[in-house]
Amino acid sequence: MIELTLLRTGLIDLPRSTFFPEGGPEIIRIPVWSALLRTSEGIVLFDTGLHPVHVDRPDATYGPKSSVKPVMVRDDAIVARLASVGVRPDDVAIVVNSHLHFDHAGNNGAFPKARFVVQGEHLAYAKGKPNFPGVYWDIPELSYLPVAGRTRVAPGLEVVPTPGHAPGHQSLIVDLQETGRVVLCGDAAFTRENLERGVIQAQDDGAATESLALIRSLVDDDLDRVFPSHDAAGWLGWRHAPEIYR
Ligand SMILES: [Zn+2]
Repeated sequence: MIELTLLRTGLIDLPRSTFFPEGGPEIIRIPVWSALLRTSEGIVLFDTGLHPVHVDRPDATYGPKSSVKPVMVRDDAIVARLASVGVRPDDVAIVVNSHLHFDHAGNNGAFPKARFVVQGEHLAYAKGKPNFPGVYWDIPELSYLPVAGRTRVAPGLEVVPTPGHAPGHQSLIVDLQETGRVVLCGDAAFTRENLERGVIQAQDDGAATESLALIRSLVDDDLDRVFPSHDAAGWLGWRHAPEIYR
């Protein structure tokens, strides 16, 4: 039986146009989170959150001119969040990265004992690109397991490609006993509104729209069973650590 725990790893202030093509310069504050999954085959972590360097230096990654502003407190560090639910970094057997942007792979370096499940297409794409800062994930001691397409990770856990935000972006399907199937979207859906309207700001519009439709089909259009990556309103309604979904 799987237990799902949502862990906040920080906040980001950014313009609404990051999420919607018609969005203006209005600044919104969004949550960043990771998910802990206790499975019969060990502990799995979905995304590793923002690096705590941003607690004291919000500009550490993109500099003072960037429109993307992390807002973090010390407790948001993934290692602190995991400790609050009794998990040490070395207890994590598998990390699934939806993709390798700094708010989803920021603490990969904290998990040298884990195997990292990433779509091979995404790994190849992200390597060396400045907007996928390698300092957080392209670390020699980490072991990446490139996968191709829909792939089982553990009993009841399956990654599924949901490209559009980036090539080889993936979401995580979680089959829970009580809650039913849920999807951890990553940046295939920033907010529930992206899924409701079938509209999202993306690098590849066609692929992104197909990915939104795929996620809806995976939960039979029951949008209470999707967890978009940065939904401020949605986040308030979800269970957070130490509460769990099972
Ligand atoms: Zn993101």
